[in-house]
Amino acid sequence: MTNTTKTPNENNKIIILGSTGSIGLQALDVASNLGIEVEAIAANKSWEMLTEQIKKYKPKFCAVRNNEAADRLREAVSRETTIILSGPDCEDELISNCTAPVVLNAVIGFAGLSVTLSAIKNGKDVALANKESLVAAGDIVMESARKANVKIIPVDSEHCAIEQCLIAGGHAEKLILTASGGPFFGLKRNMLEKKTVYETLAHPTWKMGKKITVDSATLMNKGFEVIEAVHLFSMPADSVDVVVHRESIIHSMVEYNDNTVIAQLSVPDMRTCIAYAITRPLRSFTMTQKLDLTKIGSLTFYKPDTETFSLLKLAYEAARRGGVIPAVLNAANEAAVDLFLESKINLTDIFDSVEYVTLGYNNVKNPSLEDIHDADSEARRMIYSYWTGLGDARLFHEKA
Ligand code: MG
Repeated sequence: MTNTTKTPNENNKIIILGSTGSIGLQALDVASNLGIEVEAIAANKSWEMLTEQIKKYKPKFCAVRNNEAADRLREAVSRETTIILSGPDCEDELISNCTAPVVLNAVIGFAGLSVTLSAIKNGKDVALANKESLVAAGDIVMESARKANVKIIPVDSEHCAIEQCLIAGGHAEKLILTASGGPFFGLKRNMLEKKTVYETLAHPTWKMGKKITVDSATLMNKGFEVIEAVHLFSMPADSVDVVVHRESIIHSMVEYNDNTVIAQLSVPDMRTCIAYAITRPLRSFTMTQKLDLTKIGSLTFYKPDTETFSLLKLAYEAARRGGVIPAVLNAANEAAVDLFLESKINLTDIFDSVEYVTLGYNNVKNPSLEDIHDADSEARRMIYSYWTGLGDARLFHEKA
């Protein structure tokens, strides 16, 4: 059933990039329920899924980074009118050709940064599900958005919650991000060593893509969200707290100067955040479940164990140091998580190598976009050399 409530989106169109990932799929679902036209979609190489999406949503444009996948897709949808773009700059070409005022960026990882910047450059608001854009290049992204007079709208559930809590007004003293604690809550470091990919991917409350599910198990995701909050809401890292809340019903809170705390609650469903990001300040999405607190019974809260989940502590350190260090943290983690997902390293190896590379890195203050790209590649290289023995990461460590 299509919902016809008017949204503030002036021409009722949206661009969804990263449309074959978990958030992308849910965004297509939400847009179609809200009666919003999907003007363009994009993915890295999943041409089979894009074929289905083109047939169903009839977008004007579709971008595929991988040229081979683009050829397969062109063949598969030859009867459709969708224009297929490909190659390394295809998203930029796509965005500049679209009239939709908002880009939903659900690209996974550092690759999402160029999409965010391209949307800003083209004067489009960004509904941001790619937190790496802000973690790696938060200052550049926020400054470019300010200059271009476009909005960066959080899709991440915690930041979407904070944005709603901030409507209460007054001087916000503290942002309180909630964390589910992941599948390994309560475990100590030595108990994490033997955890398999399968066990790590079993998240208790949220259904998400693989990379972010691993990051949730290590609490790296929460660390990234702290950095994300610093940029989105111009708060120092030390005014962003994390509290473990196993039920994932409170999605985050804001503490005001009169010690009042405002919280946002709902059944955990990313579609709520996606819909709010697209239609705010209106609320017109009704496909999600109602919250029945009497069924939930109790809400619990714990301090995060940053001795075991040391990547959360490392994220605060990276936020304080600034410069390229958050980009290094992001890249080192992305590379280490890839190795873990390929079962080449243990879960705790992610902690050790990411800490090693991040803490030892030679910082560059007020980095340019090029500095950030360099730091990103260098950090990845250091992780691979740390684990493959093809190079010696220690050399870089001592130099720093
Ligand atoms: Mg989140």
